[in-house]
Amino acid sequence: MSASSAPAASPEVSMDTIVALCKRRGFIFQSSEIYGGLNGFFDYGPLGVELKKNIRDCWWNDMVRRRDDIVGLESSIIMHPKVWVASGHVAGFTDPLVDCKVSKQRYRADQLFFAPVVVDGKTVGYVSALESDNTAAELQAAAEEFKRKKAIQGALAPVQPRDFTEAQPDEIALIPSPATGEPGSLTPPRAFNMMFETYVGALRDASAVAYLRPETAQGMFVDFKNVWDTGRVKLPFGIAQIGKSFRNEITPRNFIFRSREFEQMEMEYFIHEDADWDKCHKDWIEWCRQWLISIGLPESRLSLFDHPKAKLAFYSKGTTDIMFKYPFGVQELWGIAARGSYDLTQHAEASGKAQDVFDEGTKKKFVPHVIEPAVGVDRIFLAALCSAYAEEQVTDEKGNTETRVVLRLSPRIAPVKVAVLPLLKNKDALVARAQELYKKLKRKYAVFYDESGAIGRRYRRQDEIGTPWCVTIDFDTIEKDGTFTLRERDSMRQKRITEAELFALLDEKIS
Ligand code: ATP
Repeated sequence: MSASSAPAASPEVSMDTIVALCKRRGFIFQSSEIYGGLNGFFDYGPLGVELKKNIRDCWWNDMVRRRDDIVGLESSIIMHPKVWVASGHVAGFTDPLVDCKVSKQRYRADQLFFAPVVVDGKTVGYVSALESDNTAAELQAAAEEFKRKKAIQGALAPVQPRDFTEAQPDEIALIPSPATGEPGSLTPPRAFNMMFETYVGALRDASAVAYLRPETAQGMFVDFKNVWDTGRVKLPFGIAQIGKSFRNEITPRNFIFRSREFEQMEMEYFIHEDADWDKCHKDWIEWCRQWLISIGLPESRLSLFDHPKAKLAFYSKGTTDIMFKYPFGVQELWGIAARGSYDLTQHAEASGKAQDVFDEGTKKKFVPHVIEPAVGVDRIFLAALCSAYAEEQVTDEKGNTETRVVLRLSPRIAPVKVAVLPLLKNKDALVARAQELYKKLKRKYAVFYDESGAIGRRYRRQDEIGTPWCVTIDFDTIEKDGTFTLRERDSMRQKRITEAELFALLDEKIS
């Protein structure tokens, strides 16, 4: 079948479309759905686990196996509670929480915006809105509505949005709750620690309290000396880890973007105290950016955000986030932080075990500094889906037009690499050859076998889950030269290919 395609009318896909696709095709389900779900938790279905595993494997191969200066680690999720005291998480891993006493809704103060309504230079009331892509416009509209409803005459000044952490004590009672629209029910912000607590052992008292880790990074710091003493490493070198982290987020939202259980891929790159940290930081930012491009994220949707110096923690030399343009706005995907020697120094002081190394050149001991690229697998997953999704109008050779949904995922991360399709399911010779090829491919790749339905329909099913190639076994295969039809997902072009060429193609594109 020859077909032509036109680019999608709107390249911006909505979150509703992505969520619906994830459910329909078995990428992601709500956790505990039959019990009404649990907010901030998700299950990855058959295709989701494959996609996620591919993201992890690409990162691990490129970050650890293909480099000489990085080694891996898998530390435990529950660590000694003193780890989290030394790291600063017990005292400071908090978000500012605001309660609405009437609706019982909870908000993160830095995501709750408000503005005074100023008419002829006088404040006549307040409006509020939750953070979004157009918070300022929403507040302006709310201020106009406020003035109209109260029939206030005069010139309305443009609103000056502030977040709730900046609200003065005398303003708090005047700011309306986003839930009720009425003032008087919001509490002043208070620090809410996001670590999940649990108990280790049979006792349920304070001495048994432990935490589910809110990041994987502390594992690398706490095991620094173990790796140094056993790993045959020398500076500069990195320790990488992939694993689950848990944060009791006040407002989990935007699907898997901000959840309470998620997966991180973090790497701590230890450098000499006199090393050029700025260059190293910049090199890692570029490495991370290139890696995202290598798994198919479009460069045009990536940008960099340098955290303002004034907002950095006292020990931090600099943090740059790689931002991604999601359907709900430009948001942090990957944080790359230059943390100095803070973490190792903290653990040395708290544990009483020195974390320094010996410099053969200067004959002096010092505590290494660190550059930390930290990224969430789930956020990459979502970014990949959002940029791969397209709806196209296609015309088949009979002139019929239809919409094809296609996920243009990079072959590196596509959950299914190739689909094997016998042209007809009632011809034993076609099915036998297709099964033989399928079994051979399966030993190396995630492959899908499909014999039901018209061939065009089968192609569409694979397009929707992002399978880069389909091979069709037809009469030429069994009666002539043994070649198959290879159909390419993005161009929909078809060509004849031998088995050896097929394996070579897959080998080249999937690594
Ligand atoms: P944010 O400001 O969005 O809460 P953060 O700056 O607290 O993120 P880090 O502590 O730097 O995030 O964590 C490193 C990475 O882990 C983030 O860049 C992100 O990709 C991922 N991550 C953090 N929190 C979550 C979450 N709740 N859900 C999914 N991924 C997360």
